[in-house]
Amino acid sequence: MDWGTVRYRLGNDFQLAILTFLGSLAVLGITPFAIYRAIDREWVPFAMDVGIIVTIVAGVSYAWRSGDSQRPSTFLSYFVGVMAVVATHVLGVHGTYWIYPALIANFFLAPRKHALIIAVAVLALILLTGGWYRETREAASFAVTLVLSVLLAYVFAHRAAEQREQLRRLASLDALTGVFNRRALYGELERAQKILAREGKRHGLLMLDLDHFKQINDRFGHTQGDEVLIRFARLLEKTLRPHDRLFRYGGEEFVILTQVDDAETLRVIAEKLRTATERSLDAGNDSTVTTSIGGTILHPGERSDAWLARADRALYQAKHGGRNRVVIEAGE
Ligand code: GH3
Ligand code: MG
Ligand code: MG
Repeated sequence: MDWGTVRYRLGNDFQLAILTFLGSLAVLGITPFAIYRAIDREWVPFAMDVGIIVTIVAGVSYAWRSGDSQRPSTFLSYFVGVMAVVATHVLGVHGTYWIYPALIANFFLAPRKHALIIAVAVLALILLTGGWYRETREAASFAVTLVLSVLLAYVFAHRAAEQREQLRRLASLDALTGVFNRRALYGELERAQKILAREGKRHGLLMLDLDHFKQINDRFGHTQGDEVLIRFARLLEKTLRPHDRLFRYGGEEFVILTQVDDAETLRVIAEKLRTATERSLDAGNDSTVTTSIGGTILHPGERSDAWLARADRALYQAKHGGRNRVVIEAGE
């Protein structure tokens, strides 16, 4: 693997990057102790250190080779939990210092529920089985500071996950109308192809383009044009069935993805949308706004861009046939 590939994978796989970073830190931090144990001929702590280093290196290299970073990460966080308990038994009170970074690191490695369960289990096991504290106050300080550290890590992990989810949602929505955007469409087109292959259920695709929209902008202004786009999106949503998906494909073009049995059903849906638009969409001053619609049914094994291109051709025909009409590509 060359340096460019390494950099690319570190930049595009956050879990792999964090696993590699924490793994390297842990190995760098523990190796001096392993050497020092060997010099002092303390073979049990030495074996423990070597065991930890080998396991971490194995986990990280598995992630690099397999491309699956989450499984070795979660595995290592449980391993870290076990070693934290073992460390306090082998090293006594010195071992407890390692527990703090280890349990916090787990929130970067495993899903936060796992990290929390591991932390609670480690704390309970140490308090129940560890006999190295001279007094109860010492044990209480250890428990309280550890709980605080873990809770803070949990809150951070929770917030980060929430923001990640928010970003993901925002990235798939159109800013003006709030419906799904083109980026989201491509994912859904591939999903439709999978559903067709797996369950034999067919999807239809409608491409809608408002008629003479440029004139609306010219007559009423761009802001009013935006307003019409928003109301068009609301009208489509209201007319569609709950499982249908609406996307803004570009300027005044929208795409609808719907599960249907045949081209005739798709035509009925398209006609319903066309008449609803004609009847209730206007740009003010009683000037009606209409839409042309092209539609096609997904063919088995067809690529998304080919499917879109067929719908686009049907839409082109609808425009050339005089606008405010539906053209569904016949034939399978
Ligand atoms: P046709 O019936 O052939 O579709 O005519 P048209 O005028 O709708 O077609 P054309 O594609 O030439 O023009 C589309 C216009 O849509 C051009 C652009 O000014 C307008 N437009 C594109 N995106 C937006 C937008 O986000 N807001 C507004 N207000 N107008 C937009
Ligand atoms: Mg257009
Ligand atoms: Mg248009």
